[in-house]
Amino acid sequence: MPDGTDQALDQLSLAERLARVQAAVTDAASAAGRPASDVTTIVVTKFHPAELIRDLHALGVRDVAENRHQEAAAKVHELSDLGDLTWHFVGQLQSKKARQVAAYAHAVHSIDRVALVQALSVARERPLDCFVQVNLTDDPGRGGVDPSSLEPLVEAVLSTPSLALRGVMAVAPLGEEPRRAFARLGGFSQRLRALAPGAVGISAGMSHDFREAIAEGATHLRIGTAITGNRPQHG
Ligand SMILES: *Cc1c(COP(=O)(O)O)cnc(C)c1O
Repeated sequence: MPDGTDQALDQLSLAERLARVQAAVTDAASAAGRPASDVTTIVVTKFHPAELIRDLHALGVRDVAENRHQEAAAKVHELSDLGDLTWHFVGQLQSKKARQVAAYAHAVHSIDRVALVQALSVARERPLDCFVQVNLTDDPGRGGVDPSSLEPLVEAVLSTPSLALRGVMAVAPLGEEPRRAFARLGGFSQRLRALAPGAVGISAGMSHDFREAIAEGATHLRIGTAITGNRPQHG
């Protein structure tokens, strides 16, 4: 397809797509000599209705992700009867929205600057899980902290009691072999762990590159279309 959509995907049921991805995750983990239980699959449900999350929940999914505050907040509200969902926020986060996101999210994967850490420093019952997003490209517009500023950002998270540092996060750059990019991310994970030995998480891998991410040590996959089907048209 010219726009990259895979029409065959929408011929399958949600349960079939989920099962296919789960089997592929298990295979990739086993090929990497890792137990499948090392890897958490988070289903990215952006642009899909809350009902899809309800269907995923019925299929056993508990970790879901959104990338925009307004949409996330509406779905959290609509699904408040499902008490055991874990909500991950994976999109660029404006500081002025941080406090609102912290009110419902269990984890934020897109910590990319000290100002955001400060904005997320709000009283909480339990700390907010945080992943520091690292930019794997040379383009500062691509999101994530420049690797040269990784340590100060990590220190900022570590000195904020309401935040629990879990690890690094990244999106593979377009036009680079994903495995190479994820290997680089592994190096940034080591740098982070030099400051925070317990923060062993690596949030990496999407529909088209989760196998490569698993091979390079990913612990949290963020998978959208391969499970949800193609996203509905949006403006
Ligand atoms: C949308 C999104 C994903 C999932 O992408 P797919 O290609 O649909 O699997 C993962 N991570 C982030 C940050 C996203 O915005």
